[in-house]
Amino acid sequence: MRNEQNKTSPNSGIATAGLIFNEPVVFELGSPGRKAYSLPSCDVPEVELETLLPPDEIRAPIEELPELSELDVVRHYTRLSQWNFSIDTNFYPLGSCTMKYNPKINETLARLPGFAAHHPMSADEDAQGSLQLMHELQECLKEISGMDHVSLQPAAGAQGEFAGMLMIQAYHTAKGNPRKKVLLPDSAHGTNPASANLCGYKSVQIPSNSEGLIDIDKLEAVMDEETAAIMLTNPNTLGMFEKDILRITKIVHSKGGLVYCDGANLNAVMGIVKMGEMGIDVLHINLHKTFSTPHGGGGPGAGPVCIKNILEPYLPKPVVEKKGPNYFLNYDRPESVGKLKVFNGNFGMLLRAYVYIRTLGPEGILEAAQSAVLNANYIRAKLKDTFHLPFTGASLHECVFNDKGQGISTMDFAKELIDHGFHPPTVYFPLIVKGALMIEPTESESKETLDMFIESMKSIAKKGHEDPDSFHEAPRLPKVSRPDEARAARQPILRWRRVNVTPGSN
Ligand SMILES: *Cc1c(COP(=O)(O)O)cnc(C)c1O
Repeated sequence: MRNEQNKTSPNSGIATAGLIFNEPVVFELGSPGRKAYSLPSCDVPEVELETLLPPDEIRAPIEELPELSELDVVRHYTRLSQWNFSIDTNFYPLGSCTMKYNPKINETLARLPGFAAHHPMSADEDAQGSLQLMHELQECLKEISGMDHVSLQPAAGAQGEFAGMLMIQAYHTAKGNPRKKVLLPDSAHGTNPASANLCGYKSVQIPSNSEGLIDIDKLEAVMDEETAAIMLTNPNTLGMFEKDILRITKIVHSKGGLVYCDGANLNAVMGIVKMGEMGIDVLHINLHKTFSTPHGGGGPGAGPVCIKNILEPYLPKPVVEKKGPNYFLNYDRPESVGKLKVFNGNFGMLLRAYVYIRTLGPEGILEAAQSAVLNANYIRAKLKDTFHLPFTGASLHECVFNDKGQGISTMDFAKELIDHGFHPPTVYFPLIVKGALMIEPTESESKETLDMFIESMKSIAKKGHEDPDSFHEAPRLPKVSRPDEARAARQPILRWRRVNVTPGSN
């Protein structure tokens, strides 16, 4: 079973194919009659299943269902898990996604039986601990964001955006005109126009200026009384702070519009600036980026939406409230945009974020943001002579280079980095940067790790100039080399085989 490759990484030994096992699909394992349990022999009369259940409740036999022992199953899935990359294995600098380390204390507390085994349909009086935790998390997020109210329901940033846009629409509708348009900078995350569109709004793009920020003159020219809101991202997806934010919010408010801020990048500014004090009316926060709850592989996440008082009647219901010493879920909200998620959102994520915030405290939150910015700027300073920086203004928690002047493409860098043991940075986003390489180290990484990554980036750039053709097979060390990007998602090949790809052949 031992993989016959024993090539090691070009990097000083972090990545190695050493003990990665080959793995058949589960249908090829086991043998007929093997079981993962043993029960005492039956001591009551046996009855045919058909006499107990109606036919449509009984599933048809499944041909060739694998029959496995417990050990077969444990080894199969454990071996498969070792093919995966995670933040617990090495550096994961995926820009905008903020793959920050999830401290193990979060996991320990999330497993406390009082929380983990709590039934989500319990009566409020039997759920006081969980409701108190949600209420306190809301208070923490209000303090950090400078906003007036919070709903913890949305299950992701995108759903937080949707909730925010629904509230904006309800607000304008109540004033007599829901309005038609939403303004979006051209560097926006794709979920922003999607959320506006789901509410029936037409997106109007505002170009960025040469600094990578919103072009104020263009904004002023398009802002009108049919525009419901601007959806901006601050810091934006280039990692830059919109320094004219006060002018922007003033222009939008002067025509009766509201300001939506995509706060997915709050990690850079938490404890430093309060979005609520800059004229923001709605803000969503990705707990699974800023507050360390795990993500990747599709969730679960949490995207609480924070609002100003003017939008309070429209909050998704129920709202967690406190009366005297007691916490309760308030469903009596006639103007609410409604319920967006079953039960109380992804409670396990809320709990982990709460633990992160309370273990760091106000000073720790500030220090985390400062370290995230310092780490990103360290990488930027060390790589700026090797890579082209399309926007040279100050950046915060991430830095965006591109492949201009390199011997190889951004995709080649991404693939080669895997052989060095690193997860690639975000590539080809934001769309306004051609061949973008967007690096976000987060606050958790040590200088040694950053230095190793910087060395790898430089050595790949050097090799890219000397021998650009050698990259077509990268990565060489992992189980799957370089599948066709689109086809791999639509027609996954589950049976392992070593694919050595020549360019254009798949
Ligand atoms: C991640 C991200 C989102 C979307 O968040 P999800 O939780 O993935 O839905 C939106 N905007 C920005 C800037 C992001 O980085």
